[in-house]
Amino acid sequence: MKVLTMNFGSSSVKYQLFEITDTEKTRLAKGLIEHTGSGTYIATYHPAGGEKIREVMQIPDTAAYLKIILEALTHKKYGVIKSGDEIKAVGHRIAHGGEHFKESVVITEEVKEKIKEYASLVPLHQIYELQGMELAEALFPHAAHTAIFDTSFHSHMPPHAYIYPIPYHYYKRYGIRRYGFHGTSHYYVSLRASELLKQPYDKLKIITCHLGNGASMAAVKNGVSIDTSMGFTSLEGLVMGTRCGDIDPGIIPQIIAKEGITAEECSTLLNRSSGLVGISGISNDMRDIVAEMEKGNEMAKLAFDIYTYRIRKYISAYAGAMGGADAIVFTAGVGERSPLVRKACCEGLSFMGVTLDSVKNKNVVSKEGVISDEHSPVKVFCIPTNEELIMAMDTYKLVKS
Ligand code: ADP
Repeated sequence: MKVLTMNFGSSSVKYQLFEITDTEKTRLAKGLIEHTGSGTYIATYHPAGGEKIREVMQIPDTAAYLKIILEALTHKKYGVIKSGDEIKAVGHRIAHGGEHFKESVVITEEVKEKIKEYASLVPLHQIYELQGMELAEALFPHAAHTAIFDTSFHSHMPPHAYIYPIPYHYYKRYGIRRYGFHGTSHYYVSLRASELLKQPYDKLKIITCHLGNGASMAAVKNGVSIDTSMGFTSLEGLVMGTRCGDIDPGIIPQIIAKEGITAEECSTLLNRSSGLVGISGISNDMRDIVAEMEKGNEMAKLAFDIYTYRIRKYISAYAGAMGGADAIVFTAGVGERSPLVRKACCEGLSFMGVTLDSVKNKNVVSKEGVISDEHSPVKVFCIPTNEELIMAMDTYKLVKS
């Protein structure tokens, strides 16, 4: 079955086309259309085993995105299908499934209404995802469409992990609780770690560290996410490129009063001007932080130390939450590509059985591999994430049944 996955953002769309059967999972092509400002877009398209094609273009509106994708996939020279009718299912990434969606579903009018209800919880994502979904339904009217939620992998957390210690009625009245995000990534890398360990997924304790622009961790016990660092919103938890992660909530009214700003402006400050860029004043990109740190910049060093110290704290906390750990996985941009960050995150954790092999850690970059010492009781992995594969497989399972 040919399954297309789509991930719509405010100014981009990522897509992949897979051939999925009960035994085979093959990616046929992938691509990205990105807005670079003033109506100019960069479209990249990469058929499996072929050359990557990059084109700068003017696109009038989002509706045109999909036509460009279909043109690339069916192109005479480098296309991988003859017509859009070959696509039997389209899987859509949806940021928030609230408490309702505990797993992926086939999209119906009722499902769409429910997804709209949760849109206000993730204002920068869900409305674009909904728009994209409707455009794709119009272009592929004969395909089944499914929704895969960023939150659903975390939807089996116990109440003591998801209820906040504020008056309980805020949970009942406004749905204020921990939801967690990056679910498909935490699921993929923890499942893959169990395959690499050759041990049953439902018998393992795995700590997953998704360190991208946004960053979160999860404690995956016996195949279930029992805790995760992002919360009601994606602001909680780790230090990120521009987001603060955990801070004392008492700081917020202080800043509002002292700076004379609104709650909304304070939220923007914590989401966009904090984290690595806020501390260092240099950049939200870990590559720039490391480069400056290596030149002796003390603020870059401080940002790096705060970022990695918090991950170390979470690793220990999640080992405590699960009664131990069999494996730790690093994934996403920083986790897959920065041996220096991984080393700092694991420093001092030998008390709980974590020892890195410095040569393996250095050599395993942007690829799958073990980076712990062969005697380390806790195995540490670098596993490039593959959220789209989880989306395609979930879609296949739903459509087939
Ligand atoms: P997204 O969350 O947008 O999917 P990615 O998972 O691709 O992002 O991660 C992007 C981040 O990865 C960038 O902000 C950059 O800081 C970081 N990154 C990429 N390459 C490296 C590298 N070699 N060393 C450290 N950080 C890196």
